[in-house]
Amino acid sequence: MNAKRSLRFRARKNALVNEDFRDTASALVAIGRSFYERGWALGTSGNFSAVIGRDPLRLVITPSGVDKGELTAAQILEVGKEGRETGGLKPKPSAEALLHIKVIERGAEAVFHTHSVWGTVLSNVHAPAGGIPIEGFEMLKGLEGVKSHEHREWLPIVENSQDMPALAESVSRTLMKYPDSHGFLLKQHGLYTWGASLAQAKRHVEILEFLLEAVGRLHMIKPTV
Ligand SMILES: [Zn+2]
Repeated sequence: MNAKRSLRFRARKNALVNEDFRDTASALVAIGRSFYERGWALGTSGNFSAVIGRDPLRLVITPSGVDKGELTAAQILEVGKEGRETGGLKPKPSAEALLHIKVIERGAEAVFHTHSVWGTVLSNVHAPAGGIPIEGFEMLKGLEGVKSHEHREWLPIVENSQDMPALAESVSRTLMKYPDSHGFLLKQHGLYTWGASLAQAKRHVEILEFLLEAVGRLHMIKPTV
C-alpha cells in the first residue's frame, strides 16, 4: 500500500472507530433516559457501558455525577481496561467502571447498573441468604438461554463498599461462583446485569427489574385463603 492509500485507509478506519463510539454513546443516552423515566436510575444513580473494542479494551461508559434524565451523548466517555478515561477533558468516568470491567472480562458486551427501589429493598431483606431465588415466573424466559418458567434464577447479593478495588474483587469472586447468573445485586444499592449486545443487556434490566418488583410485591401480599 502506498503512503497516500495507507493514510486514506487509516482515516477511514478512524472514522469507523468514531462512528462506533458515536452510535454507542447515542444508544446509551436513549437507554439511560428510559431507565430514568421508569424510576430505575433516578438523579445521578446508575451507570451503563458497552464494549467497542477488545484488543485493547475500549469501553463506552456514562460519566460520574450526571443526571440520567438529562444525559447527553457529549457526556459519554471512553475508557480503557483500567477504567480511566482515554482522551479529552471530560468529566470522570463512573466510579463503578472497575465493576463493569470485571463483568466484561467474563465476556459481556454491555453492562447496565440500576438503582431501583425494589432491588434496593430486596437486596437488604435477602442479604442473610446471600442471594434471591426467583422461580415460577413466565418473565424468566426473557433471560438469555432460559426456556421455561420452571427455571430457578439465583441473583447473588454482594456486600456494598466504597472501596472500588475491593468491591471489584468481591464481584469477580461472585461471578466465578455463580457463572450461570444473569446479574447480581449490591446490598442496599442496586442491580448489575449484562448481555452479549446492548439490546440483550437492556432486556435483562427490564426482565430482572420486573421480577424483583414481582417478588417484592408478593412479600407484601398476604395469602387470603
Ligand atoms: Zn451504583
